[in-house]
Amino acid sequence: CGIVGVTGNDNAVKILLDGLQKLEYRGYDSAGIYVNDQSGEDYLVKEKGRISELKREVGPSVHGSTGIGHTRWATHGVVSVDNAHPQVSQDGRFYLVHNGVIDNFQEIKSEYLSDVPFTSQTDTEVVVQLIDKIATEENLNAHDAFIKALQLLHGSSYAFLLMDKQEPDTLFVAKNKSPLLVGVGDGFNVVCSDALAMLRETHDFLELVDGEVVTIKPDGIKIEDAAGNVVQRDTFHVDMDA
Ligand code: GLU
Repeated sequence: CGIVGVTGNDNAVKILLDGLQKLEYRGYDSAGIYVNDQSGEDYLVKEKGRISELKREVGPSVHGSTGIGHTRWATHGVVSVDNAHPQVSQDGRFYLVHNGVIDNFQEIKSEYLSDVPFTSQTDTEVVVQLIDKIATEENLNAHDAFIKALQLLHGSSYAFLLMDKQEPDTLFVAKNKSPLLVGVGDGFNVVCSDALAMLRETHDFLELVDGEVVTIKPDGIKIEDAAGNVVQRDTFHVDMDA
């Protein structure tokens, strides 16, 4: 129900947790974060209930500079830690948070993923397993596998934020009929469903258009349209305090 992300900021854990707290008004039943410290350590923490409970679960060792966070409003599968996001691919390579619904997830699961062991009941896990499968079998990088997977999600609503352990400082973003913004920081960048979540970090945001794929690193943001052309876009300023 709410998404946050950050890359290139050593305060990633705090930024994600505070951002999720700002999104609490949207309603949710569980929440989670995944962070990577760029030198081989990464952490996945998920919890049912309120962000204050997730904060308690996040111990002092949990640290990193790039990460993603999510508040879930369950549509497919019960409220549980396994069904909370981020959802992870079977080999632990890809981490995905998702708002919305994948209409044809059953079809994708039976057509492409019948040999994959699933650990959740969510439509979201189908997407992260599909990305991994495409990347592995077709030897594609995260960007190309993500685009191929998106092409199979017919008529669905989503805001996606993806991380690949092999490119630990990069966030991959796509949306369709769900809100998502990119925020431009000083030496870092953020992603959020609502600017409110990131006003402590930046006041400059980029609007995204349905069908675009965005690749975000600490020092750069690349927006591509559905045809793969690079799009230039100006930021807009949000004149409001956190
Ligand atoms: N359909 C996904 C799920 O049930 C995402 C729900 C949401 O938007 O929070 O896990």
